[in-house]
Amino acid sequence: IFVVFEGGEGAGKSTQVTRLSEELLAAGHDVVVTREPGATDVGARIRSLVLSHGEEADTPSPRAEALLYAADRAHHVATVVRPALERGAVVISDRYVDSSLAYQGAGRTLPVQEISWLSSWATGGLKPDLVVLLDVDPGVGLSRVDSRGQGTDRLESESRSFHERVRYAFLDLASADPKRYLVLDAARPADEIAGVVAARFKALMGVADGVPSD
Ligand code: C5P
Repeated sequence: IFVVFEGGEGAGKSTQVTRLSEELLAAGHDVVVTREPGATDVGARIRSLVLSHGEEADTPSPRAEALLYAADRAHHVATVVRPALERGAVVISDRYVDSSLAYQGAGRTLPVQEISWLSSWATGGLKPDLVVLLDVDPGVGLSRVDSRGQGTDRLESESRSFHERVRYAFLDLASADPKRYLVLDAARPADEIAGVVAARFKALMGVADGVPSD
């Protein structure tokens, strides 16, 4: 089973990834926690290319950036995600294809259809069973990031409208495929969010085992 957490800056994805993985480990599942970009050695080098820039000369052009994220994902799927799924593990990834559709597509205004095609080529068409979208108002999310001292020049350089486009792209993807998505207001208490995610996961396992979930 492949579960992905998506959301804008400061949505609390990493907290929820940890919560779900702890719950599943305690229940005896084989769990692989991973993330994009940067889960592999190759990916870590790509992550530093796409994220440590600040100066214009260091900043990949939008198409180059899209290809770098796709390269990270292709390697991640081939070497981490698919092997884990094949042995029956639950894979929980912090970000996946939707982040590219939202950030490189809607955010950088590249054609979303093209990013979708590129992503599907990179992954060999691997789709998650469940996407948990932690929806956050960019103003709230960015101030959470700042208050943790995690603000960067790169985030500063992206406008509020960039983050608004990203947010609405995530929401549009979710509304186009509601069975695959769980959309939660990231402003809700972390415990409440974790409870809803765990319940949805159990329902998904019921379906995966051929047992109706309700
Ligand atoms: O989730 P995390 O905070 O590690 O993501 C790092 C950064 O990568 C985010 O600030 C996000 O803006 C950026 N990102 C992106 N395009 C992606 C994935 C992440 O711009 N496809």
